[in-house]
Amino acid sequence: MRYNKIRKMDIADGEGIRVSVFFQGCAFHCKECFNPETWDFNGGKEFTDEEINQIIELAKPDHIAGLSLLGGEPMHPKNIEGSTRLAKKFKETYPNKTIWAWTGFLFDEYLKDKEIVNYLDVVVDGQFKIEQRNLTLKWRGSENQRVIDVKKSLKNDEVVLYCD
Ligand code: SF4
Repeated sequence: MRYNKIRKMDIADGEGIRVSVFFQGCAFHCKECFNPETWDFNGGKEFTDEEINQIIELAKPDHIAGLSLLGGEPMHPKNIEGSTRLAKKFKETYPNKTIWAWTGFLFDEYLKDKEIVNYLDVVVDGQFKIEQRNLTLKWRGSENQRVIDVKKSLKNDEVVLYCD
């Protein structure tokens, strides 16, 4: 699998100061996607254990609140093995830091049975829909998208929102 970029300090994607990874490749092709350069699965750079170790190091300082997984599509079948490996190692290393992920796939239809959910804290799900764009929303671009509390959703076996 491949990635587009790693941000050492990201204050826009999740709570606090975070390390973020933009994976490469997305098949949804939402109209007016904020990041179309990440669509091509052959673009970007190879994501290896070296990048995982680099991310773990970048997140070491106390002021880093956690890791954010974005894209592209971190949960696409071509990418999910790598994003799972990263999330697992991150959570094992920093159990008190959070992992947020953005995906076009729906939590209850696709994601909830995947291994990666065991390591995630918050998922923002659903494709970006320009017809439902709302610039006042927090962490998401369109009203169909949901900010989901993963642990509570798994416990209750239904989607529990982290915030409106
Ligand atoms: S799912 Fe996200 S990255 Fe993929 S096309 Fe839609 S907005 Fe862009």
